[in-house]
Amino acid sequence: MLDGIEESIVVLDRDYRIVCYNNAFNGWLKRPKKKIIGEHCYTVIKDQPVRCSPCIVRETFRTGQFFETSHSHDLGGRKVHHETNAYPIKDANSEVKYVIYMFKDITERAMIEEKVRELNKFKEKILDNAGIAINILDEDGNIMNSNRGAGELFGHAEEDIRGEPHSIFYRNEDKELLAKAMHEVLEKGKFESEVTLIKKNRTEFPARLTLTTVEDDHEKPAAIIEIVDDLTQLKKAERVIKQQLEQLKELDTIKEEYFYSTSHEFKTPLTSIVGLTKMLLDEKVGKLNGQQKEALNLVYCDSKRLRGAVQKILDIARMESGKMIYHIDKVDLNSVMSEVLETVGILFESKNLKVTNKIGGDIPHVIADKERIALVIENIISNSIKFTPVGGRIDVTASVEGDNVLVQIHDTGVGIPEEDKEKIFEKYYQVKSGMGENVGGSGLGLVICKKIVEDLGGKIWVESKLSEGSTFNFRLPYKESKQHIKKK
Ligand code: ADP
Repeated sequence: MLDGIEESIVVLDRDYRIVCYNNAFNGWLKRPKKKIIGEHCYTVIKDQPVRCSPCIVRETFRTGQFFETSHSHDLGGRKVHHETNAYPIKDANSEVKYVIYMFKDITERAMIEEKVRELNKFKEKILDNAGIAINILDEDGNIMNSNRGAGELFGHAEEDIRGEPHSIFYRNEDKELLAKAMHEVLEKGKFESEVTLIKKNRTEFPARLTLTTVEDDHEKPAAIIEIVDDLTQLKKAERVIKQQLEQLKELDTIKEEYFYSTSHEFKTPLTSIVGLTKMLLDEKVGKLNGQQKEALNLVYCDSKRLRGAVQKILDIARMESGKMIYHIDKVDLNSVMSEVLETVGILFESKNLKVTNKIGGDIPHVIADKERIALVIENIISNSIKFTPVGGRIDVTASVEGDNVLVQIHDTGVGIPEEDKEKIFEKYYQVKSGMGENVGGSGLGLVICKKIVEDLGGKIWVESKLSEGSTFNFRLPYKESKQHIKKK
């Protein structure tokens, strides 16, 4: 039976002579199989890797008690670990007659334990140097462990808070949130929120809290990792940025107000210049010679362009302040188109462009604001004239599409690159390539067009191919809707 036991066993009498031993002990001896019954234990083990100090056999004989110890020996540079036990065997007078001495080589186990200890130390080091505060909690929210970051942030010494509920970090008014957080992390495995926490000195600070569960082998939550990210600096920076942004906005408003009031000052004299030049050109105050006509024509075109630019700035201001007013009525697109083409006639004549208006008389009248639609058409046509080289063509058509009328203004101009098609409807955007850079403009016209068409329940978009031309499309309803009634 003794031979079946893995531990080395030897039984000694009061003179420390061997009474019996097992196979494992024999195997452990340097001189196995030699007859050792009756020999003194010292002579048997003197050249073995084991020391008898403190000798638990002697202590067992002396006290009659069971002893257990473990010791390590240096065996030529190699560390050997032994776990030893000594059991007393007593006679009828309770005198210890024999001692059973058992020992086991636990070097391998000791080495694994040492490695685990090192690994745990390493893990602690990582946690301590993680730069954030980490608490390890049990399922009830009691603190099992916390890293150096947590100690520095909250001001508590780890040994003082071990075993305490982590609610010590939370304000009284947040206890409900805390209960919710614990419930959620145990249910879903994670909880994240911005919270206000308290330090040992009772000061409060903003933090991002992350709770995550760690599961055991049976996939049950074994611990909760509480990570606390101090947001104090971030919040401070946010406040400064917000203040600066507000100051910038104020400056922007002042600048824009000045810009708009100056534009307004320009508008009245420009209207007189345009009107009076037109009167002179129409020879209402006297005949003009060819040279005078040519010069006046230039003044007329440029002052009109300038007035258009000023008008755009004022429209944008009105648009942004939500003060755009619409006078909704039935609008005959054919006649609006003819009027616009007539007013910009001089421009396309100067570039020798062929313009055709193919809007038929059968096209239903759209529900819109005549003035504003004229402005949309004028903007699109002026662009077509600007971006179409001398000798090109501009064609205008209209058709019915369900409850809408679709107007298409096609030119044989420079076209618009694919990536710019959406952007040209944004404020101040102008295409960088082609003629865009040389023909002036503000990049505001199409923004106004989009706003007006959309306010009237329609849609505007462009189709284009570089070097082949562009088609500006807009759709407007010809049946009255709730949107129109609201705008009336
Ligand atoms: P502006 O013409 O005052 O610059 P818009 O908002 O009316 O401003 O137009 C924005 C940009 O869209 C123009 O600068 C031009 O680059 C492009 N664009 C508009 N219409 C055309 C067109 N018919 N052909 C080519 N490019 C155009």
